[in-house]
Amino acid sequence: MKWNRIVIKLGASILTIILIILLPLGFIMNQLFSGFYYNKVQDQLNDLSNRYANTITSVEDQDILQMFEVLADMTDQEIIIVNEQGTVVANSGLPSLPKGLEIQEDELSRFINNSVVQNELYDEQTDKRYLSVGKPIILDDQFIGGIFVLASVEEMYQSIDMITNSIILAGTGAIFLAIGFTFIVSRKLSNPLLEMEKATRKIAKGDLNTRVSVASKDEIGSLSNAINDLAFELQRYRSSRREFFANISHELRTPITYLEGYANVIENKLYKTEEEKNKYLQIIQQEAKRMSSLVNDLFELSKLEEGRLSLQFEEIDLIEVVENAVSKTKIKAEQKGLTIGFSPTYQIPSIYADGLRMEQILINLIENAIRYTKQGSIMISLSSDNDKVIVSIEDTGIGIPSDDIPYLFERFYRVEKSRSREHGGTGLGLAIVKQLVARQHGSIQVKSEVGKGTCFELTFPIYKGE
Ligand code: ADP
Repeated sequence: MKWNRIVIKLGASILTIILIILLPLGFIMNQLFSGFYYNKVQDQLNDLSNRYANTITSVEDQDILQMFEVLADMTDQEIIIVNEQGTVVANSGLPSLPKGLEIQEDELSRFINNSVVQNELYDEQTDKRYLSVGKPIILDDQFIGGIFVLASVEEMYQSIDMITNSIILAGTGAIFLAIGFTFIVSRKLSNPLLEMEKATRKIAKGDLNTRVSVASKDEIGSLSNAINDLAFELQRYRSSRREFFANISHELRTPITYLEGYANVIENKLYKTEEEKNKYLQIIQQEAKRMSSLVNDLFELSKLEEGRLSLQFEEIDLIEVVENAVSKTKIKAEQKGLTIGFSPTYQIPSIYADGLRMEQILINLIENAIRYTKQGSIMISLSSDNDKVIVSIEDTGIGIPSDDIPYLFERFYRVEKSRSREHGGTGLGLAIVKQLVARQHGSIQVKSEVGKGTCFELTFPIYKGE
């Protein structure tokens, strides 16, 4: 077990709480108990001293004094009687105030003033503390002496000592309890935290196979799950980044090889005719164009994936957008002897999207349809129901094998690598389309049959003015 700050803080907090409760509680108990006991004894002594003082008729008569001594002997109290000069004339057995001893002057003067004398005294010989209450003895309005009634308060002090000892014992117990509790908590709380700290440091250093093995179902458990998820995501990110760079370098290598090769041919005049030279220059131009569109597509896709591409949302009429896209792609289709069919028969509800980006999606899908169709036509249709609008782009082209369909929207995925290159595609078109559709709250689906054709279906929610 490692003592770290949390464990120490926790232990100290528990200890403080226990002591905060225990100490005032002990103090209050002490005060209450001693106060109660003291008052009770005091009342008793007051009562007795009053009665005795009223009964005594002489402090000179030895018989009377003896009678009081005997009387006191039968109780728990002691009595001391002093004459009008303050000299002890009777003592029921308290060694520190023997007969003949004079009491303190201030006590005597208080007697003379008819006041009660009250104090605590310690008797060395019996090793006991006494509470004493003294009353003046008045006979026929004449001060003739005083009587002290004393009771031992030793028991009270013993009880107070007992309470104090119990509190000290409880405090010591609390310290051990806090240490024990801290030890348990450190195992339950701190060790998993330390394990997580170690794991996150390893993850930060790049060891992404690291996992935390805390399986508890509390907050610590969910934190460890979050760390594991983070490691997993980083792992996925790293491998997709590796794959991405491998793809890019592969995509760039081919045009660069062409560029290098044909530039070399021209530089060393390895062509026979001027016509041949122009063909090579054309290839160089095409490859440079391909590299430029690859870079542009990559840039756009990365902006989309990071959410950095801002769209201009507005209420748009899809018929207009489709018509624009058709007019821009018509020439390409006609060059290949294909027709593009689009004849909306009824009004379609508007959607909330970015008009230009929507056109980009459609141009991309129509150009793909043209690219992968040898003969026939491309049909575009619009339909709607209560809450969505559907745009479908259907061709009579080569089709896509069903095994390839799940990967179609991945970056650089091509069904036939060589054919796609031949057509000048970057392999990023559908990945961009998917991102753009999702950013506009839509979805895209593909249905295809090899040799018969492909249909891409886009669905967008109807704009309801919110
Ligand atoms: P590319 O730039 O290669 O066209 P895309 O991301 O646009 O890249 O498309 C990915 C792959 O999907 C293409 O290489 C092609 O094999 C296939 N594909 C896309 N559209 C069609 C279509 N209409 N008909 C047949 N195959 C298609």
